[in-house]
Amino acid sequence: MNHAQLTALGRALRLLGEHGEALTADTPDAKLHEVRTDLRRALELLDETVTTVAPATRCPEHPNGPVDKSAPDLCLLCETRRRAARRSEVNGAYPSYDRSAAEPSEPADRAPSRYGVRGDRPQPQQRWLPELWNGREWQLCGTPRRDRREAELFINAQRRAPRAAMAYRLVHEFTDYEVVRIWGHPVRTDIEPMGNL
Ligand SMILES: [Zn+2]
Repeated sequence: MNHAQLTALGRALRLLGEHGEALTADTPDAKLHEVRTDLRRALELLDETVTTVAPATRCPEHPNGPVDKSAPDLCLLCETRRRAARRSEVNGAYPSYDRSAAEPSEPADRAPSRYGVRGDRPQPQQRWLPELWNGREWQLCGTPRRDRREAELFINAQRRAPRAAMAYRLVHEFTDYEVVRIWGHPVRTDIEPMGNL
Protein backbone atom coordinates (compact mmCIF):
# COMPACT_ATOMS: atom_id res chain seq x y z
CA MET A 1 0.00 0.00 0.00
CA ASN A 2 1.51 3.31 -1.04
CA HIS A 3 0.99 6.60 0.78
CA ALA A 4 -1.72 7.90 -1.56
CA GLN A 5 -3.68 4.65 -1.21
CA LEU A 6 -3.30 4.73 2.56
CA THR A 7 -4.62 8.30 2.72
CA ALA A 8 -7.57 7.64 0.42
CA LEU A 9 -8.53 4.36 2.06
CA GLY A 10 -8.25 5.83 5.56
CA ARG A 11 -10.48 8.75 4.60
CA ALA A 12 -13.08 6.46 3.01
CA LEU A 13 -13.19 4.13 6.04
CA ARG A 14 -13.46 7.02 8.52
CA LEU A 15 -16.34 8.40 6.48
CA LEU A 16 -18.13 5.05 6.75
CA GLY A 17 -17.57 5.18 10.50
CA GLU A 18 -19.22 8.59 10.61
CA HIS A 19 -22.18 7.24 8.66
CA GLY A 20 -22.50 4.50 11.25
CA GLU A 21 -22.40 6.99 14.13
CA ALA A 22 -25.07 9.16 12.52
CA LEU A 23 -27.41 6.31 11.68
CA THR A 24 -30.85 6.47 13.38
CA ALA A 25 -34.37 5.21 12.70
CA ASP A 26 -35.04 8.57 11.07
CA THR A 27 -32.17 8.47 8.61
CA PRO A 28 -33.73 9.35 5.21
CA ASP A 29 -33.33 7.12 2.16
CA ALA A 30 -31.37 9.83 0.38
CA LYS A 31 -28.76 9.55 3.12
CA LEU A 32 -28.71 5.75 2.82
CA HIS A 33 -28.01 6.06 -0.91
CA GLU A 34 -25.11 8.30 -0.02
CA VAL A 35 -23.86 5.66 2.44
CA ARG A 36 -24.08 3.01 -0.26
CA THR A 37 -22.06 5.14 -2.68
CA ASP A 38 -19.39 5.76 -0.04
CA LEU A 39 -19.34 2.09 0.85
CA ARG A 40 -18.80 1.15 -2.82
CA ARG A 41 -16.05 3.73 -3.06
CA ALA A 42 -14.30 2.22 -0.02
CA LEU A 43 -14.58 -1.26 -1.54
CA GLU A 44 -13.08 -0.05 -4.82
CA LEU A 45 -10.20 1.53 -2.91
CA LEU A 46 -9.68 -1.75 -1.05
CA ASP A 47 -9.70 -3.71 -4.29
CA GLU A 48 -7.01 -1.41 -5.67
CA THR A 49 -4.95 -1.68 -2.50
CA VAL A 50 -5.12 -5.43 -1.95
CA THR A 51 -3.23 -7.12 -4.75
CA THR A 52 -2.62 -10.51 -3.19
CA VAL A 53 -5.12 -13.34 -2.80
CA ALA A 54 -6.77 -13.81 0.59
CA PRO A 55 -4.55 -15.89 2.90
CA ALA A 56 -5.44 -19.57 3.22
CA THR A 57 -3.89 -19.89 6.69
CA ARG A 58 -3.42 -17.61 9.68
CA CYS A 59 0.33 -18.25 9.59
CA PRO A 60 2.36 -15.08 8.99
CA GLU A 61 5.17 -17.16 7.50
CA HIS A 62 3.09 -19.29 5.09
CA PRO A 63 -0.18 -17.37 4.49
CA ASN A 64 -0.81 -19.20 1.20
CA GLY A 65 0.73 -22.51 2.13
CA PRO A 66 -1.05 -25.87 2.39
CA VAL A 67 -3.88 -25.98 4.95
CA ASP A 68 -4.15 -28.29 7.94
CA LYS A 69 -7.65 -27.77 9.35
CA SER A 70 -6.68 -29.24 12.71
CA ALA A 71 -3.80 -26.80 13.23
CA PRO A 72 -4.50 -23.71 15.35
CA ASP A 73 -3.04 -21.44 12.65
CA LEU A 74 -4.28 -23.77 9.83
CA CYS A 75 -0.67 -24.05 8.59
CA LEU A 76 0.35 -27.55 7.54
CA LEU A 77 4.03 -26.63 7.23
CA CYS A 78 4.27 -25.20 10.75
CA GLU A 79 2.09 -27.97 12.21
CA THR A 80 4.39 -30.59 10.70
CA ARG A 81 7.31 -28.76 12.27
CA ARG A 82 5.56 -28.52 15.65
CA ARG A 83 4.70 -32.23 15.57
CA ALA A 84 8.33 -33.10 14.88
CA ALA A 85 9.42 -30.85 17.75
CA ARG A 86 6.90 -32.43 20.14
CA ARG A 87 8.06 -35.88 19.06
CA SER A 88 11.70 -35.06 19.67
CA GLU A 89 10.72 -33.64 23.07
CA VAL A 90 8.98 -36.90 23.92
CA ASN A 91 11.97 -38.87 22.73
CA GLY A 92 14.34 -36.71 24.70
CA ALA A 93 16.22 -35.68 21.60
CA TYR A 94 17.38 -32.12 21.07
CA PRO A 95 16.62 -30.99 24.63
CA SER A 96 17.42 -27.37 23.84
CA TYR A 97 16.75 -27.46 20.14
CA ASP A 98 16.10 -24.00 18.79
CA ARG A 99 14.71 -24.35 15.32
CA SER A 100 14.72 -20.65 14.52
CA ALA A 101 18.44 -20.57 15.19
CA ALA A 102 19.06 -23.89 13.50
CA GLU A 103 17.26 -23.16 10.26
CA PRO A 104 17.61 -19.48 9.46
CA SER A 105 17.40 -19.99 5.71
CA GLU A 106 14.55 -22.46 5.47
CA PRO A 107 12.55 -21.73 2.30
CA ALA A 108 9.14 -20.30 3.21
CA ASP A 109 7.04 -22.48 0.94
CA ARG A 110 8.85 -25.77 0.92
CA ALA A 111 6.44 -28.46 -0.24
CA PRO A 112 5.43 -30.93 2.48
CA SER A 113 6.80 -34.39 1.89
CA ARG A 114 4.96 -37.52 2.90
CA TYR A 115 8.21 -38.95 4.20
CA GLY A 116 9.49 -35.76 5.75
CA VAL A 117 12.97 -34.44 5.32
CA ARG A 118 15.96 -35.03 7.47
CA GLY A 119 15.58 -31.80 9.44
CA ASP A 120 11.95 -32.57 10.30
CA ARG A 121 12.69 -35.86 11.96
CA PRO A 122 13.91 -36.23 15.51
CA GLN A 123 17.07 -38.20 16.10
CA PRO A 124 16.20 -41.91 15.82
CA GLN A 125 15.80 -43.15 19.35
CA GLN A 126 14.02 -46.03 20.96
CA ARG A 127 12.45 -46.46 24.34
CA TRP A 128 10.43 -49.13 26.08
CA LEU A 129 7.21 -47.98 27.70
CA PRO A 130 5.55 -50.03 30.44
CA GLU A 131 1.76 -49.72 30.27
CA LEU A 132 -1.08 -51.19 32.27
CA TRP A 133 -4.72 -51.85 31.41
CA ASN A 134 -6.81 -49.68 33.74
CA GLY A 135 -10.09 -51.33 32.79
CA ARG A 136 -10.80 -48.91 29.95
CA GLU A 137 -7.55 -48.18 28.19
CA TRP A 138 -3.81 -48.63 28.28
CA GLN A 139 -1.92 -46.15 30.40
CA LEU A 140 1.74 -45.55 31.12
CA CYS A 141 2.63 -47.10 34.48
CA GLY A 142 6.30 -46.28 34.85
CA THR A 143 9.22 -44.37 33.48
CA PRO A 144 10.02 -45.20 29.85
CA ARG A 145 13.24 -47.23 29.73
CA ARG A 146 16.11 -47.24 27.31
CA ASP A 147 16.55 -50.93 27.90
CA ARG A 148 13.96 -53.58 27.05
CA ARG A 149 15.11 -56.06 29.68
CA GLU A 150 14.90 -53.41 32.38
CA ALA A 151 11.35 -52.53 31.30
CA GLU A 152 10.31 -56.19 31.36
CA LEU A 153 11.75 -56.65 34.85
CA PHE A 154 9.80 -53.58 35.94
CA ILE A 155 6.55 -54.99 34.53
CA ASN A 156 7.18 -58.37 36.18
CA ALA A 157 7.65 -56.62 39.52
CA GLN A 158 4.44 -54.66 38.96
CA ARG A 159 2.52 -57.86 38.23
CA ARG A 160 3.59 -59.32 41.57
CA ALA A 161 2.52 -56.19 43.48
CA PRO A 162 -0.53 -56.51 45.81
CA ARG A 163 -2.85 -54.42 43.66
CA ALA A 164 -1.59 -55.40 40.22
CA ALA A 165 -3.55 -54.41 37.14
CA MET A 166 -5.44 -56.93 34.99
CA ALA A 167 -2.92 -56.68 32.18
CA TYR A 168 0.34 -55.05 31.25
CA ARG A 169 2.03 -54.45 27.97
CA LEU A 170 5.37 -53.28 26.73
CA VAL A 171 5.40 -50.63 24.02
CA HIS A 172 8.43 -50.11 21.83
CA GLU A 173 8.70 -46.46 20.91
CA PHE A 174 10.70 -45.78 17.81
CA THR A 175 9.36 -42.53 16.43
CA ASP A 176 6.04 -44.39 16.17
CA TYR A 177 4.47 -46.75 18.67
CA GLU A 178 4.42 -50.50 18.34
CA VAL A 179 3.01 -53.03 20.77
CA VAL A 180 5.57 -55.79 21.07
CA ARG A 181 4.03 -57.96 23.73
CA ILE A 182 0.90 -58.20 25.84
CA TRP A 183 0.61 -59.84 29.24
CA GLY A 184 -2.85 -60.96 30.35
CA HIS A 185 -6.13 -60.41 28.55
CA PRO A 186 -7.33 -56.83 28.36
CA VAL A 187 -11.11 -56.82 28.65
CA ARG A 188 -13.08 -53.63 28.47
CA THR A 189 -14.80 -53.08 31.80
CA ASP A 190 -16.69 -50.20 33.37
CA ILE A 191 -15.11 -48.63 36.40
CA GLU A 192 -18.42 -47.38 37.82
CA PRO A 193 -20.71 -50.30 38.74
CA MET A 194 -23.78 -48.89 36.95
CA GLY A 195 -21.94 -46.77 34.43
CA ASN A 196 -22.70 -46.68 30.71
CA LEU A 197 -25.52 -49.23 30.81
ZN1 LIG B 1 3.45 -21.67 8.77
